[in-house]
Amino acid sequence: MPAHTEPAHTDALVVGAGPAALALAAGLRARHLSVRIVAPHAPQAFPATYGAWLDDLPGWARACAAHVWTDVRVYTGPQPTPLLRPYALLDNTRFLHALLDRAGPLTWTVGTVTHAAPGPDGWTVHTREGKDLTARFVVDAAGHAGSLRRPRHPGGAALQTAYGLTARFERPPSAPGAMVWMDYRAPHGPGETPTFLYAMHLGGDTYFVEETSLIARPAPTRAALRARIHERLRAQGTPPGEILHEEWVAFPMNADAPDPHGPLAFGAAGGMVHPISGFQVAGALRAAPLVAHAAAGALRAGRDPHAAAWAALWPPERRAAREVHLLGVQALLTLPPDQLAPFFRAFFALPPAAWHAFLDPDTPPGALARTMLRLFTALPNRTRLPLARAALATPGVSGRALRSAMNAPTASAHPGPVPARQAGGMSDDTRTDHDTPTENAVLNHEDLNQTEAIESGMQGATGNADANGLDPDVNLGERVEDLRENLRPLTEHK
Ligand SMILES: Cc1cc2nc3c(=O)[nH]c(=O)nc-3n(C[C@H](O)[C@H](O)[C@H](O)COP(=O)(O)OP(=O)(O)OC[C@H]3O[C@@H](n4cnc5c(N)ncnc54)[C@H](O)[C@@H]3O)c2cc1C
Repeated sequence: MPAHTEPAHTDALVVGAGPAALALAAGLRARHLSVRIVAPHAPQAFPATYGAWLDDLPGWARACAAHVWTDVRVYTGPQPTPLLRPYALLDNTRFLHALLDRAGPLTWTVGTVTHAAPGPDGWTVHTREGKDLTARFVVDAAGHAGSLRRPRHPGGAALQTAYGLTARFERPPSAPGAMVWMDYRAPHGPGETPTFLYAMHLGGDTYFVEETSLIARPAPTRAALRARIHERLRAQGTPPGEILHEEWVAFPMNADAPDPHGPLAFGAAGGMVHPISGFQVAGALRAAPLVAHAAAGALRAGRDPHAAAWAALWPPERRAAREVHLLGVQALLTLPPDQLAPFFRAFFALPPAAWHAFLDPDTPPGALARTMLRLFTALPNRTRLPLARAALATPGVSGRALRSAMNAPTASAHPGPVPARQAGGMSDDTRTDHDTPTENAVLNHEDLNQTEAIESGMQGATGNADANGLDPDVNLGERVEDLRENLRPLTEHK
């Protein structure tokens, strides 16, 4: 709970009061640091509709679910593909209170941060209202625009936009009892930005339906998506009755991993939005204890907490994985509108461990790149062509991705405090923010087993060739050239 009197100085200062800020504040408080939150508002329930894979959430956050669906589907053609992975919708009031309870006493300063400067006692953070606040550890968790530095988006921001409504329906607009993660069935004319339906049955006659553009540059506008969801609902004979709530979603998906200097950037401000799914909340909840542990340890040892936190959040492997993901973004942005459904059909036909790993921000780059190669080979030629072009447009990144795909994962490859993931269970994760890296090492090991599961699921792994049929001893430069050569007919064909 926020403290009533404001001390002049705190150990840590976190800019923002979204899920990422409060999760990190709770992690720092659990390590006995005094923490100030600076936000333009008092504690308030988060305004966005937050969904997450249930097994991605730490145990305490699973208890904040308003709904959990076991019937989770995608439609990339007439028939649904069951995803067999429970999905949760968070109750934002419960979620906020769980975070505040975990944090305990916080100093809460209402204000808008404008800039910060280093000084002898750490950093001084300035607010628009004229306050100068000092702390030894400063975190920018001010959301997609940041407050102390602007996230960078290579090639310009590519946005996810969506328009959603919670409404009563006379006839179900999507499968009753189910959560529809992605429904690409509505026809889209040539050249139009493709959108899909994201839908949840909230019980009785109430549904949440959202017309979503996964990622686009430029992105469809609110008016266009609003018109499209109403057209979709009208065309399928399920117009909404009473509309209870409307939601507009717009945020960039393709932020770079930030340069590791100055105050830590965390959450959406810190390039932690997954560039393919747009998810961020569960990843920030899982990363917060690790980052807090690193910063608190450095403070106690008299070292720079920012350097320690940057290193914990963005080890080289995670930066490399971000590059691989951003390569995926480039590829998605170049796909013709009618190729998104075939792309996701092939994606969800991968073994579950493979697509789970691809959507997990903590998956090492080698496993990611191998999944991408595997997906590539499974795609129809028409879908493959633009992807190959995108890969060849950034040979440096593609070469590094290929290189990491060929390298066996190492025990140090995993950056984060990833709990063993078990779909559906509500009680498997009873860890607290006091978890130590030693425990995490064990958990990381289990996660590496997931990588092994991906590899063992791959076909054709024989002898000294790895699961993709790539010989680990081959000259990498030659291999990249081979790849180029093999792809040339595809890329030259118009
Ligand atoms: C409508 C919507 C729906 C989304 N749905 C999902 C979802 O289902 N699942 C998922 O994982 N992700 C989702 N996302 C993506 C992302 O996870 C969210 O945007 C999430 O809220 C980001 O969390 P955050 O804590 O980093 O930032 P935010 O939640 O944006 O919080 C930022 C905080 O910083 C404060 N702030 C901003 N500027 C300043 C300043 N200068 N000084 C002080 N304070 C400042 C704000 O007031 C706010 O308190 C969604 C995004 C949107 C927009």
